[in-house]
Amino acid sequence: MQRKDFIDVKRIVIKLGTNVLRNDDGEVAVSRIYSFIEDISNLVKQGKEVIIVTSGAVGLGKKKLELVSTEGDGIKQACAAVGQSRLMSYYENGFANYDITVAQILLTEDDFSLRHRYLSLRTTLNKLLELNVVPIINQNDTVSTIELNDILSGMQVCFSDNDKLSALVASELDADLLILLSDINGLYTSNPKENPDAEFIREVECVNNEILDLGTGASDGGRGGMKTKLEAAKLVTRFGGKVLIANGKIPYVINKIFSAEELGTMFIPTNENLSGKKRWIGYATNVIGKLVVNEGAKKAILENCTSLLPIGIIEVQNEFKQGEVVSICDENGEEFARGMANYNSEECRQIAGNHSDDILKILGYKNYDTIISRDNITDLI
Ligand code: GLU
Repeated sequence: MQRKDFIDVKRIVIKLGTNVLRNDDGEVAVSRIYSFIEDISNLVKQGKEVIIVTSGAVGLGKKKLELVSTEGDGIKQACAAVGQSRLMSYYENGFANYDITVAQILLTEDDFSLRHRYLSLRTTLNKLLELNVVPIINQNDTVSTIELNDILSGMQVCFSDNDKLSALVASELDADLLILLSDINGLYTSNPKENPDAEFIREVECVNNEILDLGTGASDGGRGGMKTKLEAAKLVTRFGGKVLIANGKIPYVINKIFSAEELGTMFIPTNENLSGKKRWIGYATNVIGKLVVNEGAKKAILENCTSLLPIGIIEVQNEFKQGEVVSICDENGEEFARGMANYNSEECRQIAGNHSDDILKILGYKNYDTIISRDNITDLI
């Protein structure tokens, strides 16, 4: 794949991180924001559909409230509430210069995890694009529960930062390209801020575990970092989208990307073409239930693409209802797939380790032979 392949893409999600929306001194990078707006307006005028995922609300609110820290109950949420309208006013005013209408969309994990909300969000976003509006998305920090660990108690949430959020949006809308702009040039063989010998990687063919291991912790100010960007790249490339991680501090970077300049690290789509439903099962839902399975079941799922049968289940953790998505883990607790359960947690406990033929005898009824049907399993590795 070549950089000129970007030129023909139609639907693009662009994620702007906290660190590119402010200068090193913490002040809003007004001229950079306006340059993004100018570049994006050019894309829209060329007939491309652009969705922006923007951070920056917490930072702007913190500045306005003259706070030194966002630690403490409700402070980050309060900063986001103050900062979000200021953030939007930059986009609203900037795009008005190009006669482009914008829309604000604030999302929480539940908007993806609850399927009816997910489908409704998709309809709305598609309608906005049809109306030539640029949707501007951010996490709804004021009501999001992701930082309240006691409420979540063991739940794996579908996103907790804007990198993953942008990948979920790209996935939901079948976007052709996701561009993640932050203050780093792209992916290196190790952290270039710590290791001067780190080598730049210009292209990644497959986001495997070796690549995922190159991701280190969070960036300053934002919640994401290279780790979350690589996870985002994994999801998008698995359904057939392209991904570019590039440095948003390069002047007019978006324009340069679409002029086929060789910038950033490009991630090439796999040929899996993961269906919409499989994407939702694997990545877009919050997960609380867990099924620990034996090696035979793991192998059957990953290598032979089979369903999950009760005989392969060693342990059932947490409570879940029939139809909910659960995590499928191996004997070491390593999650390797997710799937939609045909039986609830209590039923799974009763039939675990037994043959499917015995389900009727044990439960007194049998709706399915499998705990999870193959069509409802998404491999994660
Ligand atoms: N939603 C946060 C904000 O607007 C940023 C989250 C992130 O950095 O991923 O400030």
